[in-house]
Amino acid sequence: MPRDFLQGCADYYDVIVIGSGLAGMTSANILGRAGHRVLLLEQHYKLGGLATWFRRPGGHIFDISLHGFPVGMLKSCRRYWNNDIASRIVQLKNIRFDNPMFSLTTTFNREDFTRLLTTDFQVPAQNVSDFFDTARGMNFYDDQSLTTGELFERFFPGREDVVRLLMEPITYANGSTLEDPAITYGIVFSNFMAKGVYIYEGGTDDLITRMQAELKANNVDCRIRCDVSRIEVDASGVQGVVVNGRSIRCGCVVSNSNLNATVFNLVGEDKFDRSFVDQARQVRLNNSSTQVYMAMKEGTEIDESTGDLLFSSTAPLFRTEALLSRNITSRTFSFYYPRTRPHGKSRTAIVSSTNANFSDWSGLTPDEYEASKQDLIETTLDALEKYVPNVRDYVEHVEAATPHTFEHYTKHLSGASFGTKFEGLAVSRALPEQIPGLYHAGSVGIIMSGWLGAINYGVIVANDVDQRIMRSRPSLSKSC
Ligand SMILES: Cc1cc2nc3c(=O)[nH]c(=O)nc-3n(C[C@H](O)[C@H](O)[C@H](O)COP(=O)(O)OP(=O)(O)OC[C@H]3O[C@@H](n4cnc5c(N)ncnc54)[C@H](O)[C@@H]3O)c2cc1C
Repeated sequence: MPRDFLQGCADYYDVIVIGSGLAGMTSANILGRAGHRVLLLEQHYKLGGLATWFRRPGGHIFDISLHGFPVGMLKSCRRYWNNDIASRIVQLKNIRFDNPMFSLTTTFNREDFTRLLTTDFQVPAQNVSDFFDTARGMNFYDDQSLTTGELFERFFPGREDVVRLLMEPITYANGSTLEDPAITYGIVFSNFMAKGVYIYEGGTDDLITRMQAELKANNVDCRIRCDVSRIEVDASGVQGVVVNGRSIRCGCVVSNSNLNATVFNLVGEDKFDRSFVDQARQVRLNNSSTQVYMAMKEGTEIDESTGDLLFSSTAPLFRTEALLSRNITSRTFSFYYPRTRPHGKSRTAIVSSTNANFSDWSGLTPDEYEASKQDLIETTLDALEKYVPNVRDYVEHVEAATPHTFEHYTKHLSGASFGTKFEGLAVSRALPEQIPGLYHAGSVGIIMSGWLGAINYGVIVANDVDQRIMRSRPSLSKSC
């Protein structure tokens, strides 16, 4: 008989969270901590969503999306998770750029970027200072008609090299383009510039294990291999979900599933106003990614000056289309030195990431798909030779992930790495107005994606849910 992953589940919860990405887990944790009865349902066999990892024989562990996040993670983890987790967040010191326009190493903060822009790039100090202040001063309510490209043109007219320095890492970090609203760039860029790039020491496996323990301590009922096929709603609002063929009732649903999948697959467009459906149809998915995971033989030593994060490109100019092209010219290498997992075996791993279009990987025959993956691996090793000479001699294990891999494991439509584009935010926020008790928390726009954005969006939505529950049960004394 197949195992029942819902064994022992109650028939009713105050909140059901669909999906255990960082937004879903954070919402669940806050609501559980506030004393609400919470069920967290994850279709995969482990928690974390895109914040995940995998093991291979020989003691190798690969992180999928642990490349870097802003210092704000420290505060968010301390407040909404625990000190133990927050204390493992450490700075990455060597951020490298290597492309036909410039090669440099930076700590990726305002002070060091000011030095680089004024000395190496010879930009007047006043322009640099005004640019940083403008970016820092941006917030959600600002004019959205100004694009990032126009913002750069205002402060650095005609300076393609400066645009590349300022934009390439952010495009890599969240798929944003020069055509996106400038506020999406300004907020994310300023978050990084505050204090540089940070990472979780111990690896994603350690982080998610600690988060899982915290969820348990807060009485969140966590279930893996539980695929929600339907969110049940009626005229009064959310009623429950159908998961693994069983109906479970609830007062609220927080969907951490892809926004478009939530609206069109889990609920169904007939349950929304026509105008809302039209608006939701306009929401574009963000791009996807390819990755190549390379584990070095035990004892391999790579000089740490090679970099922690290395933005490499052979493209003569910065162009968004080039960053997405199957004809890869840009790769971001993450170096995981043995200190990444200080308590594990002394291992070094390198992950190469490139933004990608789902369409370049769909419609291939199985043979073509395998050949394309092999080509991705070989060309990546070729590119890495420049930074780690004779790298093929040191590599013990190598494999690739494509947009199909991301779609398969997270159910993100078209393997979107960062959920939806900016217009998704308004649709996500409007869900409870359409269907009382229905919320979405997860990568939307550019601001609410990435590790920090997802966690912070989980916090915002948990507060909304808490308020709704408190309104319906005023006798409850505890809140978030
Ligand atoms: C290759 C790559 C590299 C990245 N690098 C970085 C980085 O360096 N720094 C950074 O900050 N961010 C990075 N990101 C982005 C970051 O990982 C994500 O933005 C963030 O983790 C998304 O969290 P989320 O809460 O939106 O949910 P997701 O991680 O998308 O998780 C959604 C969860 O919902 C589950 N689910 C979906 N549908 C159902 C269903 N019907 N029933 C049950 N469960 C369901 C999925 O299985 C999944 O677990 C990267 C992403 C990728 C792909």
